[in-house]
Amino acid sequence: MSRPDLTPLLDEIAVEARKSIGRGKVADYIPALARISPGKFGMAICGVDGTEFVTGDADEAFSIQSLSKVFTLVLALQTIGSAPLWKRVGREPSGTAFNSLVQLESERGLPRNPFINAGAIVVTDAITAHSVSPTLQLLGLVRRFAGTDAIYIDEEVARSEAEHGHRNAAIAHLLKSQGNLKARVEDVLAAYYRQCAVAMSCRDMARAFLPLANGGVQPKTGEKLMVPLRAKRINSLMLTCGLYDGVGNFAFRVGIPAKSGVGGGIAAVIPGKYAICVWSPELDGLGNSLAGTRALELFARKTKLSIF
Ligand code: GLU
Repeated sequence: MSRPDLTPLLDEIAVEARKSIGRGKVADYIPALARISPGKFGMAICGVDGTEFVTGDADEAFSIQSLSKVFTLVLALQTIGSAPLWKRVGREPSGTAFNSLVQLESERGLPRNPFINAGAIVVTDAITAHSVSPTLQLLGLVRRFAGTDAIYIDEEVARSEAEHGHRNAAIAHLLKSQGNLKARVEDVLAAYYRQCAVAMSCRDMARAFLPLANGGVQPKTGEKLMVPLRAKRINSLMLTCGLYDGVGNFAFRVGIPAKSGVGGGIAAVIPGKYAICVWSPELDGLGNSLAGTRALELFARKTKLSIF
């Protein structure tokens, strides 16, 4: 059975979601991100049946920031295996800000989950300790998942974050002092900043998330990128930990597993059906795209495609 053309729906959602623009704030703690025009809005949906629908700035590359944490998790699980990784990172929502240090100190260096910065830095360490070029490896994985080479690292964003990355440096040093970082702090941070600075479009991000909607297989190529259980687990983690301290409200409003980044991207998965990416740079107070969240809420409501 052929799927409906979702383009008119996406255009309608874009008009409505854009009304939120002006109420949020573009991330400015990474100065290179503060230069992005707040009026951008793009959305792409890829179906497991090969269909693709886009609206707005869906083909413009944006800074994926924490969306990279999903791909580094896949790579770290491949690199050191599931049991060793889960000894070093938890699987519970944090209830704190994405870059918080307080919890890490009180919980003795065991980050709550791989999608807060502390957890992602441990995940990056697992890759860095076993690779001479962790960034190239990650870039290769993202390109394979998306099926395109049009994905690059924005070195200016990486430099900007490194220059202003005092909190992440503090997290990495704290992890090292607590015995949960194996590689050199400098090497882990360099890899972390560069993975956050990957730039790609909504369309390519939706394509790259498609294996998570399809039991680990990229429907476009038939390539098996992970076993179905891993895809299911990553989707579950996104549902409980993918939007930092806003994850509960997002589940309430949208009801779809997703991961956000401070570049304004949110990538979401409707298992068995679609992968979605929306990008709008203005963020709410918790670091999640304001218009992006609204767009996904409207999508779930209008299509009744929440997972619940
Ligand atoms: N590069 C950002 C940081 O480490 C990622 C945070 C995010 O996107 O939520 O602060």
